[in-house]
Amino acid sequence: MLLTYNDINKDVVERPDVCIIGSGAGGAVMADVLSGAGIDVVVMEEGGYYTKERYGTYKPIESLKILYRDYGSTVVLGKTSIILPLGRAIGGTTVVNSGTCFRTPEGVLDEWADTYGVVKASPKDMEPYFERVEKTINVIPVTPQGLGKNGLVFKRGADALGLSNGMLKHNMIDCHGCGRCAFGCPHDAKQAVHLNFIPSAIKKGARFYANAKAETIVLESGRVKHIEGSIINEQTGNRLYGITVSPKLLVLSAGAIYTPYILQKNGIKLSQELGKNLTIHPAARITSFFDEIIEGYKGVPQGSYVDAYSSEGIMLEGIFVPPEIALPVLQPIGIEGKKRAREYNNLAAFGVMVSDKNSSGAVRPGIDSGPLITYRLHPYDLKKLIKGIAVASEIFFAAGAKTVDPGVHGIQEFKSSRDIAQLFTRHLRTTDFEMMAFHPLGTARMGELAGHTVVDSFGKAHGTENLFISDGSVFPTSLGVNPQITIMSFSMRNAEYIIDNRKRFLT
Ligand SMILES: Cc1cc2nc3c(=O)[nH]c(=O)nc-3n(C[C@H](O)[C@H](O)[C@H](O)COP(=O)(O)OP(=O)(O)OC[C@H]3O[C@@H](n4cnc5c(N)ncnc54)[C@H](O)[C@@H]3O)c2cc1C
Ligand code: SF4
Repeated sequence: MLLTYNDINKDVVERPDVCIIGSGAGGAVMADVLSGAGIDVVVMEEGGYYTKERYGTYKPIESLKILYRDYGSTVVLGKTSIILPLGRAIGGTTVVNSGTCFRTPEGVLDEWADTYGVVKASPKDMEPYFERVEKTINVIPVTPQGLGKNGLVFKRGADALGLSNGMLKHNMIDCHGCGRCAFGCPHDAKQAVHLNFIPSAIKKGARFYANAKAETIVLESGRVKHIEGSIINEQTGNRLYGITVSPKLLVLSAGAIYTPYILQKNGIKLSQELGKNLTIHPAARITSFFDEIIEGYKGVPQGSYVDAYSSEGIMLEGIFVPPEIALPVLQPIGIEGKKRAREYNNLAAFGVMVSDKNSSGAVRPGIDSGPLITYRLHPYDLKKLIKGIAVASEIFFAAGAKTVDPGVHGIQEFKSSRDIAQLFTRHLRTTDFEMMAFHPLGTARMGELAGHTVVDSFGKAHGTENLFISDGSVFPTSLGVNPQITIMSFSMRNAEYIIDNRKRFLT
């Protein structure tokens, strides 16, 4: 059963075995696996329930307003502000993500075991979970035809320089290459979790409440007693009814920003590490103009990668956004703006994302109703970003670009590859870069070292009896690759742990 605010006309009271807060990558998988074992599950999701019939007709700007939190402009504060968009809907951020799928790198899993004492999460232990998740969401490589010219041009440049590259894997079926992944796939080609794990959980009896915001968690002597929240009118934002859920066990899957925030707001400390150790995979965009027609909006926007420097924590992955989002940031005004708009069909773009193992941020309750997110980019990680921008610029020129804009304040468009050296000769500071980030992780890190970690290896919060966390917050270090497969696979494994120990947790 899936109910939205439209279906509810009085206060809701529920007494399930398990309550899950959040229905994204972590929460949806948890709900499906638990309900498959006959466990009674209730999911509270603050966002609404949207299908392709609705968001398929939205303009990209409208999607930002409806499918994202804060109009897609959640901000991380630091020396420079970084936009960190977060999805808010049944299906969470998977509804608006780019669909790229990577398994957790083996070296990262080994590091978690060695440094944080994470048990039973070796590459061999995780393999069956990766396989099951990938099968459920249909992970397949993007085809050269699906890639579009933006990806093909970049591949041409990478090949010319002999740099390792390839097609990314995506969770999709019959992609139309319409380029709208980040605004809700209008064809249901992208297999976000509201198309697979969630309907499967509902079939097995799970009850999903959309527009249901969890606000209060009552925890006494290490046991969660109940969760109180509001059923919100999606149009007005007003509270309509109350919702009280009294479960035997609570799973928090509100994502790496809102999971620590809801705990902190309720005075539940768990560990001094709660809310700390935030990593985000800072990313930059490099744009380029060609004489040839690119029509970058055709094809899978994030279809290909260059992993030649992945061992250094630098990944290059495709990006492209529709004109109403792209043009204002390219060249805002006047004659130059007009020229840029005319040349839009000749524009190519690619992204650089770095593994921010040396940097760190924090989530804490803000002054008003939301979290305050802060982040400090370590100079070493900034160097990686600069190198990634230089490599992407070289690739564009090797592909025949006329000009390349590195997106760095104070540096003019490059007219030839000779200009790239400026990235290394100029004294560049964090504030010179326009960064975005899409992968918040780490704010409730897992491991067996109590004091240094917030939850154990299976997501159970230290010092509590019946509180689990299963989302992007639990990963102790930056992954270096896009996280949805890691989040879903760990959630599946954690759900099985709860099932195997149901006598302990659910009686
Ligand atoms: C534009 C974009 C592109 C991306 N592309 C990729 C990609 O290609 N590949 C990839 O692997 N990853 C990608 N990601 C990241 C990936 O989608 C996320 O890392 C992943 O979905 C996070 O899973 P989660 O379960 O931690 O949280 P989410 O999926 O964000 O789910 C959390 C849910 O909890 C809900 N919630 C929060 N607070 C409350 C509350 N108080 N009460 C009730 N509900 C609440 C939220 O509304 C949300 O729906 C992208 C992200 C973005 C923004
Ligand atoms: S490019 Fe493919 S997956 Fe992305 S929105 Fe279009 S049809 Fe969906």
